[in-house]
Amino acid sequence: MNNLKNKEIWFVTGSQHLYGEETLKQVARDSQEIATDLNNSAHIPVKVVFKPVLKTPEEILSLCMEVNNSISCVGIITWMHTFSPAKMWINGLKVLNKPIAHLHTQYNRDIPWDTIDMDFMNLNQSAHGDREYGFIVSRMRQNRKVIVGHWKEEDIRKKIGSWSRAACGWNEWQGMKVARFGDNMREVAVTEGDKVEAQLRLGYSVNGYGVGDMVNAINQVSEADVDKLLTQYEAEYHISPEIIKPGDKRDALKESARIELGMRSFLEKGGFKAFTTTFEDLHGMKQLPGLAVQRLMEDGYGFGAEGDWKTSALVRAMKVMSTGLIGGTSFMEDYTYHLDPKGMKVLGAHMLEVCPSIGQGKASLEIHPLGIGGKEDPARLVFNVPEGKGINVSIMDMGDRFRLLANPCKVVNPDAALPKLPVARVVWIPEPDLKVSAEAWIHAGGAHHTGFSMAIGVEEMEDFAEMAGMEFLLIDNDTKIREFKKEIRWNDLYYQLRR
Ligand code: MN
Repeated sequence: MNNLKNKEIWFVTGSQHLYGEETLKQVARDSQEIATDLNNSAHIPVKVVFKPVLKTPEEILSLCMEVNNSISCVGIITWMHTFSPAKMWINGLKVLNKPIAHLHTQYNRDIPWDTIDMDFMNLNQSAHGDREYGFIVSRMRQNRKVIVGHWKEEDIRKKIGSWSRAACGWNEWQGMKVARFGDNMREVAVTEGDKVEAQLRLGYSVNGYGVGDMVNAINQVSEADVDKLLTQYEAEYHISPEIIKPGDKRDALKESARIELGMRSFLEKGGFKAFTTTFEDLHGMKQLPGLAVQRLMEDGYGFGAEGDWKTSALVRAMKVMSTGLIGGTSFMEDYTYHLDPKGMKVLGAHMLEVCPSIGQGKASLEIHPLGIGGKEDPARLVFNVPEGKGINVSIMDMGDRFRLLANPCKVVNPDAALPKLPVARVVWIPEPDLKVSAEAWIHAGGAHHTGFSMAIGVEEMEDFAEMAGMEFLLIDNDTKIREFKKEIRWNDLYYQLRR
């Protein structure tokens, strides 16, 4: 994955000419100091770039156009050190097409009780300057994040960090290409959706490619490259001897390696960042891609099974957002339940395709029959996932809008070793508990496929939904079913009216 330091957040300070040269120079010095300090914060993964203080409508419009045109700028932090009459911001905000974080801070943390005079008062006006600016953003019905507190506070940096991660995810979606190998799993509803609307609202394009074209790429892989990859597998994973020795299993592993190399070259050549497969359309392929999908996901590709392009795009965005953080991100499915009243939990997995980035220790590379798809036995990585905090996120096309649904969870160890389960798996307890979580999830129309992450959390996903203008529903420890159902009904009304 790319380092997010090649992405920029521009630090934009608003003021006006009323205060005179000296004050404006001080405003610029203070802003530069804050921008530099934020740029050096370990909590903020992107570059924070100071921009000259804005004093006129023309300067504001010109800066906003520059933001739109900049390839590296993924969003702006705005702050009114002094008063900045907000009608000056209208033309700029009208054209701005990147996310805004409104940092409501003040250069001085404390009021200097003994020395405060009118010069100090005139310089440190964000308490009312930011309210004037906030009004116009609200009046223009523009989404943004508002972050309140002194800029030295760690919590403020964490919030800016989460928001800038979300901005990188959103930036990634703009122009991103998703490849679909085959169509949807037949008759499945939630993985369908309006791809044109997705491109209009969310920025990424989804196009189908013949499985035969991928098979061509797979067939072009050289024997030498296959052998090289096999050596790599042997170094990276636990592999049982019967897979390594010549015979059926080794041939199956070689086929898996060939599939990985073919898919990778197809995706690289086409500039795709996410893809889908479906076990119902594998024409010309010997196996359902399992190991290949797992390893491609580990390298940062988004993935959705059964043609699920929305989850695939989501997984990619979540992977970009989590760059550099501890904990992985994977395609996931609520597979089966443990309904013991003493401790209800979910076992998450998929037929094969769980990303090793969330795994614990060295994965085991195994080959087993697959009872679905009618193909040869596929290779897959089998592993457990360490305990910790996780989140499941789902995106659905509700017909008139896209809905993002998030549910944090606690990842726990399985109760026993699962010796007969030949697939990677995660066991979790959702917030607030399985019963309320599943009831709310089902009311929300949440998909059975999710993006699952142990690196990012609610704040990033909520900021992301805000940037996308997407409905955001959260199931957590505060969720009450009665209120949640009302929220869904009210949202229905809001989104109908907004159209
Ligand atoms: Mn599935």
